[in-house]
Amino acid sequence: MEQTKIILDENEMPKQWYNVLSDFSSPIEPPLDPRTWEPIGPEALEPIFPKSLIKQEMSSERFIDIPDEILEIYRLWRPSPLYRAHRLEKLLKTPAKIYYKNEGVSPAGSHKTNTSIAQAYYNMKEGTERITTETGAGQWGSALSLACNYFDLECKVYMVRSSYYQKPYRKSMMTIWGGNVVPSPSEDTEFGRQTLKEQPETPGSLGIAISEAVEDAIEHDSTKYSLGSVLNHVMLHQTVIGAECKKQLEKVDTYPDIVIGCCGGGSNLAGVSLEFIKDRLEGKRNPRVIAVEPSACPSLTEGEYRYDFGDTAEMTPLLKMYTLDHKYVPPAIHAGGLRYHGASPIISKLCAEGLIEAVSYDQYPVFDAAVQFARTEGIVPAPESSHAIRCAIDEALKCKQTGEEKTILFNLSGHGHFDMSSYDKYFNKELV
Ligand SMILES: *Cc1c(COP(=O)(O)O)cnc(C)c1O
Repeated sequence: MEQTKIILDENEMPKQWYNVLSDFSSPIEPPLDPRTWEPIGPEALEPIFPKSLIKQEMSSERFIDIPDEILEIYRLWRPSPLYRAHRLEKLLKTPAKIYYKNEGVSPAGSHKTNTSIAQAYYNMKEGTERITTETGAGQWGSALSLACNYFDLECKVYMVRSSYYQKPYRKSMMTIWGGNVVPSPSEDTEFGRQTLKEQPETPGSLGIAISEAVEDAIEHDSTKYSLGSVLNHVMLHQTVIGAECKKQLEKVDTYPDIVIGCCGGGSNLAGVSLEFIKDRLEGKRNPRVIAVEPSACPSLTEGEYRYDFGDTAEMTPLLKMYTLDHKYVPPAIHAGGLRYHGASPIISKLCAEGLIEAVSYDQYPVFDAAVQFARTEGIVPAPESSHAIRCAIDEALKCKQTGEEKTILFNLSGHGHFDMSSYDKYFNKELV
């Protein structure tokens, strides 16, 4: 049988991040000032981000060296394994080859540590003492709490209220790593207090939590804000995923025909796919790239491509992206990490230009796929990642119809060990 688990040595780990902006034929639309709608310069972002990250956000350098201090921490779980899903293929009776990259092996359980470690490091270097952030399902809050812990930074997490009560163990995990977690909207910010007064029963949203975290960072000294997806520097840090995948596939003489990732803000999709989009932009190869969204929050498939705010209170700069509108509060689906009204400007532009396709699925077919995967490959996937699994299975089933032996690569962005109540609801037919 062909190889199942393809691993790399530590010394084969990528030493650089790839900046796709450098390969765009036309520059990406700049962020705009939230009051004047004029393009902003780097200094406008300095109250909330360290200079080094702002530089990366606007960089046109093609490759950026990963500092040794970051590599040293990445080494605790990277390079992550790539698997051939032999048992899933057999179940589906497909001639397709299915590979998946397991980002669930990081201590926090998802790909988000690839950027949280980098962001905490650059903040520490510039003297930040405290970082604020928002978290939806809790994965980003965990990843940042872990990272702050490594660099002796305080971490304040505004956790979307519905998840705070649905996923108490995510909160425990953040507390173990020293994070300070409050449900959002909270009494700790002006915007939180105002929202609680107007809508005491609100389940909260990422947009509201971002407004609180940004306000907190602006109001407090030595405090910066950190975002776990959407921004260019986040997409950049995630490119280690695709760079590893490419080396791993080379070891088995393969190149993907289709690359798949679920898409909330777009970072794990960017992570797995930009390395392959690079080949497309260079005219070397032509893989299809597919973004998979929940039909309850379909920014790429049904949103508009225009400037919009990143948060509910209209405090963040405007970004050109596919959006459902910043006032939209998505329903409380179980893939909480995919409940964001917009999508990364990089992913949005690639979609608008036809380099990335987008599809959406309802919760039931997604959980059907998750369970098929768990029962064949063994790993219990995060509901977010299960969107990518659904799409990979459907593409493999198409190959069964046509007899094509395509190579399919998808990103298993995280494990689902904190999502047992969602699985229970699925088995009890209580999902909406
Ligand atoms: C946060 C998260 C996502 C969604 O965020 P992206 O930025 O779109 O990757 C997907 N999967 C998992 C496991 C997550 O934690």
